[in-house]
Amino acid sequence: MSVQTATSPTTRRFDPLACKDDLDAFRAEVRAWLEAVVPADWHARMTGASEADYVAFQRWWFAEMGKVGLATPHWPRDWGGADIGIRHQVIIFEEIARAQAPNPDMFVISLYHLPATLFGNGSKAQRDRYLTGVKERGEVWCQGFSEPGSGSDLASLRTRAERKGDVYVINGQKVWSSYGAFADYCLLLARTDPTAPKKQAGISYFILNMKAPGVTVRPIRQATGQAEFCEIFLDNVEIPVADLIGEENAGWAIAQSTLSAERGLIIFELSERMARTLDADLAEAKRTDAAWLKDDEARRAFTRAYNDMVALRLMIRALMQEIETDPHMGSTTMPTYIKVHFSELLRRYTEFRLKLGGLAGQLRQPIVLGGGHQTGNVMHDFLLSYAWTISGGANEILKTMIAERALGLPR
Ligand SMILES: Cc1cc2nc3c(=O)[nH]c(=O)nc-3n(C[C@H](O)[C@H](O)[C@H](O)COP(=O)(O)OP(=O)(O)OC[C@H]3O[C@@H](n4cnc5c(N)ncnc54)[C@H](O)[C@@H]3O)c2cc1C
Repeated sequence: MSVQTATSPTTRRFDPLACKDDLDAFRAEVRAWLEAVVPADWHARMTGASEADYVAFQRWWFAEMGKVGLATPHWPRDWGGADIGIRHQVIIFEEIARAQAPNPDMFVISLYHLPATLFGNGSKAQRDRYLTGVKERGEVWCQGFSEPGSGSDLASLRTRAERKGDVYVINGQKVWSSYGAFADYCLLLARTDPTAPKKQAGISYFILNMKAPGVTVRPIRQATGQAEFCEIFLDNVEIPVADLIGEENAGWAIAQSTLSAERGLIIFELSERMARTLDADLAEAKRTDAAWLKDDEARRAFTRAYNDMVALRLMIRALMQEIETDPHMGSTTMPTYIKVHFSELLRRYTEFRLKLGGLAGQLRQPIVLGGGHQTGNVMHDFLLSYAWTISGGANEILKTMIAERALGLPR
């Protein structure tokens, strides 16, 4: 696929970060850049696109964002970011949603999970090598935490890592690794001390090169027909000792930093897209005097979704305020509330849209790749909404966490 920029080439140079001291000017610059750079026909080009075309388009989009500093603006300046505040981040997400720009979903682990892990726990050499790799070469990361039988009960993982001289030798299997088929590296948890009295105490955290001998990746086909996540088989794979993150057997605590990146912030953009979808659906229904506007049950379902969306945005703003007040001591439960709330809202709203679509709406059609939850096909959106209630920790588990840690209910 030839990857071109916007329909009319522009000679204007954009630099949103130069305007970061003035929020309105920053927003205007982000908006102008998006208008110039997002190809008007990208939805059409990514509808039913091949895997190779999707990967090429994602790489192109990531590189374009990087050119104006908007791929990694949330990273600290020392590691190639712009140190921008959470308000700027929200503006970027709002404008991306407004422009219906692509979502760089293939890079989500590279952009959020990896830095959340390496900033506080990685060595300088690891940060220099791997954060630069993301920023300058667009390296793709995946996450190898879950195993068959170790998902919610992650601490029961069985993949073994045995130190032999300057390397660890890894044997085992991972599952559900999102974007594993495209990944250059993997954030890997493995057991280094099977005799530790507490399961959590015997786990270490590694950087796995996905091209290393002994790594086999097998995509898993989902209910949606896509195969966005993979099984990873590890057969005597050697990882240099330099790619151990933190201390041996101290991986569990580090994994909590990675997991914190899975909830909360990455839902910012999706919630903005969701808000626009709801508004657009309502406007369209009014314009066409849609039958559902006169149906009590449908109106109730829409109103509930709308109220839930407003609540979601308020929660995100509350989290934003907490992080602004104290970047290191933000609430530990708000991101969990946000993830549970967003996923349940998404499930209910996609179900509502599926019902409205009738039988015709249930037909499988080619979908837009890289548009967040807006794929252009309600059946697909509905099926995929289930993924959100499981990924990043099953909602049942998260609700238990909220009950115990936030509400102080008995175990
Ligand atoms: C779209 C998607 C992407 C993912 N991406 C990744 C990835 O990139 N890397 C990665 O490592 N993993 C990934 N995962 C895996 C995900 O983290 C796990 O699926 C999740 O932690 C649940 O684990 P499990 O599948 O083993 O389910 P189980 O733990 O077997 O749970 C099955 C069901 O039982 C319930 N249950 C289990 N224990 C309890 C309990 N104590 N109390 C109440 N209910 C319970 C659960 O809530 C769930 O409904 C992804 C999953 C999805 C859906």
